Amino acid sequence: QLFLTACAEQDLAPKGPRRRQNRSEEKLAIQEGPFANCPDTDFSLPANREWLAWNLEPAIPVLDTALRSAADVEEALLAATSSPWPQTSQSERARLLRQAAVELGNSRGQLIAIMNKEAKKAPAEGDVEVSEAIDFANYYAHSFSDPAWQDGLAHEAIGPVVITPPWNFPCAIPCGGILAALAAGNPVIIKPAPEVIATARVMVDALWRAGIPRDALQFLPLPDNEIGQSLITDPRVAAVILTGSSLTADLFLGWRPDLRLFAETSGKNSLVITSAADPDLAIKDLVKSAFGHSGQKCSAASIALVERSLLEKTSFLTRLKDATESLKVGPATDPASIVTPLVQEPSPDLLRGLTQLDEGESWLVEPKVDENDPCLWSPGIRTGVKAGSWIHRSELFGPVLAIIPFDTLEEAVTIQNDTGFGLTGGIHSLDPVEIASWREKVEVGNAYLNRSITGAIVQRQPFGGWKNSSLGPGGKAGGPNYVSQFITPRSPSLPK
Ligand code: GLU
Repeated sequence: QLFLTACAEQDLAPKGPRRRQNRSEEKLAIQEGPFANCPDTDFSLPANREWLAWNLEPAIPVLDTALRSAADVEEALLAATSSPWPQTSQSERARLLRQAAVELGNSRGQLIAIMNKEAKKAPAEGDVEVSEAIDFANYYAHSFSDPAWQDGLAHEAIGPVVITPPWNFPCAIPCGGILAALAAGNPVIIKPAPEVIATARVMVDALWRAGIPRDALQFLPLPDNEIGQSLITDPRVAAVILTGSSLTADLFLGWRPDLRLFAETSGKNSLVITSAADPDLAIKDLVKSAFGHSGQKCSAASIALVERSLLEKTSFLTRLKDATESLKVGPATDPASIVTPLVQEPSPDLLRGLTQLDEGESWLVEPKVDENDPCLWSPGIRTGVKAGSWIHRSELFGPVLAIIPFDTLEEAVTIQNDTGFGLTGGIHSLDPVEIASWREKVEVGNAYLNRSITGAIVQRQPFGGWKNSSLGPGGKAGGPNYVSQFITPRSPSLPK
């Protein structure tokens, strides 16, 4: 039943393009006119699966990913502060961003392959990320026509911006930060996450090939020690865009309390499923939200709030169990794997979530670790979980889902809001009254109706949280107010 629903939906969705097998043939065109989202690859087409296999085959290319020294930090800051980038015209910056979209598209296969190797990303997940990076480029280029830029003010760059991205979205997240800061006229230094330096390098190479100058965009892999710290704390750095844990954000602010920090931090997200939901659609979206990229997304669903009558009266749990157990768990090198190895061995908290039940809880699906790979865990689902329990408020960042029953929608929203975080959240219900009431009360940055709670689409679902999931002015990535956060508007001094 679940499978049929998924297929029917796929038939209605627009098909992704047929990718050419030979990358040199796949020359994309600059996006003119209104912004449009870039389609993902349709891997149901045999030609695209061949294209993927062709891209996954080669060994990792030799890239300059060596960690840089304190002297390199100084050199990068000198280059950034003397870069002529802030003087380039807005139209030239927009042209380069659109060209960047083309080059990212030309690197799609290589990016999918490098993310597969470094971040253990299943190819379909990597593909979506490349589309998102392309969307950021076209969207931020397009956003120059927004009223914010036509207000008669002078728009001053704020100065060098440092990007410290996470390892879980090693292409789209750094690319979005880089392009937004560049669009606003700021020189950028990217310090990639140590786990995914090669992916950042392939992405930055694409942006350089597009014509973005090397002094405007500098690639600076640094160790996470006093050398990395020296970049964050240098007063020549005007701002830092961080995506990472709340702990890292606190660390940065502890080092430098006056830091202008734009941070997207932790989440503890849930999907409410009421008895008015279509259970097949709800289960499909829940499984995707909880176990995509093995749950290693800030946006992932780690709690399912399910109405008690649905839990008790239907075969909901059996269907959820079957759907979860049908996910292929395996190495990232196998394109059929949906649940791939974790990037790092489980943290103590995640290990607790994967192995120890609290009082009254039981496993609907018990997670198992692969005997040859301590990072490869099959997904787990805990039932009988109580609101207020340890797992209700702990971000685990792995393939564990907790089911908490509820009796009234009001109770569900209270539990959903009671985590300290507020990144994503969703509801599955076909009752418009329930949906309206939920929308009004839910305290999350990205509130999703009858869809998965991961995979925000540029322009359609600008991404960003509130409460402990965000620090800084709160502009949403892929939304209309994001780029303008990185400028200082100045009134021209007109004669009286
Ligand atoms: N933007 C991603 C999504 O919508 C999540 C990013 C993250 O995990 O930090 O799923």
